[in-house]
Amino acid sequence: MEKTKKNEKDIKSKFENEKGTKEFDILIIGGGVAGMSAGIYAKRRGKNVAILEKLTLGGQVNEIPKIENFPSISSIDGFSLAQQFVKQIEFLGVEVIYDDVLNVDYSQDEKKVFGKNSQYSAKSIIIATGVSYIELGRNEKDYLGKGASFCAVCDANFFKGKEVCVVSKNGSGLKDAMFLAEICPKVTVIDSGDMTTYSLANKNKKIEVLSNAKIENLVGDELLNGVQICIREDNNSFQNNTHQSNTSNHKKELVFSVEYKTIPTSALFIELGKKPDNKVFGDVKVDEKGFIITDENMKTSINGVFAVGDVRSKTLKQIVTACSDGAIAGQQA
Ligand SMILES: Cc1cc2nc3c(=O)[nH]c(=O)nc-3n(C[C@H](O)[C@H](O)[C@H](O)COP(=O)(O)OP(=O)(O)OC[C@H]3O[C@@H](n4cnc5c(N)ncnc54)[C@H](O)[C@@H]3O)c2cc1C
Repeated sequence: MEKTKKNEKDIKSKFENEKGTKEFDILIIGGGVAGMSAGIYAKRRGKNVAILEKLTLGGQVNEIPKIENFPSISSIDGFSLAQQFVKQIEFLGVEVIYDDVLNVDYSQDEKKVFGKNSQYSAKSIIIATGVSYIELGRNEKDYLGKGASFCAVCDANFFKGKEVCVVSKNGSGLKDAMFLAEICPKVTVIDSGDMTTYSLANKNKKIEVLSNAKIENLVGDELLNGVQICIREDNNSFQNNTHQSNTSNHKKELVFSVEYKTIPTSALFIELGKKPDNKVFGDVKVDEKGFIITDENMKTSINGVFAVGDVRSKTLKQIVTACSDGAIAGQQA
């Protein structure tokens, strides 16, 4: 914290203009691995660059118990990897300002960024605000790193040869189920929508899709060993009504019959989707899910505004691709 305060004081004296706006060549909004990679490349080009971060440098990576797919490092916990990035930006002298960006104005050449604590301006902006995963809203947090996961691509290998479950909404988890079926003997997809047509057409014998089904609870001791689910027996989707209840308390309120059961499983992959934080987007073009569209140089539809990492519309949202995006934008901005 001391360090942060000192950092901000230094920046104030160096870059603040008479109106109190801190001026930079490049401002990076978000200090995850994408933002820090952009900072490394921009700083090494001699640019006056700052990262605005609302919480903790490293972003999502801090929450990953074990990473085994970052090239050149066989296995590492997320916090340690994030710290290596932090060390490198400190070594290079990339400015870090802890502020929550609330609004932006990209209408002029000199773009304005409005944080909770201060105001900033720069010719180039790199948006690196990442995503938040849509949560299940049950007790999944108790089992993160112990069987529950928000990322099949990241964690599938830890469950090779084991039976696993995927929780999904209107087919959101099917792609991951197929990926998991390559290394797991059985994948059960628990989908809250009506997936009957998909189930009939699906030729993959390793995948079982349960329609109109919801997770009530994750169960286990130290590690996850099962999920309690309920399935509507009238073939209607759970999304058409208000059954949000806990098994015991609200059984009486149900106007349809449900079957409750526990499925034994080593893992539950929560694949309900991701949502980008769009308050810093301005008028940049986004795809149908709200992710920012860029060209291969990370340029958005607005001149001088770039987007990198998970916030960008792309197929593989991983640490290595976030770093690659950051490097390109840091070089181009
Ligand atoms: C549980 C889990 C396991 C994973 N496992 C792996 C794995 O094994 N291998 C792998 O390669 N990838 C893995 N991933 C994916 C990987 O973590 C992400 O692809 C990557 O970290 C994205 O980095 P990012 O910088 O784009 O976004 P983020 O890490 O989301 O960083 C965005 C940053 O922006 C900040 N921010 C957001 N809004 C604002 C604002 N308005 N003002 C200021 N700051 C803001 C946030 O606080 C955050 O620090 C995993 C993800 C999760 C959640």
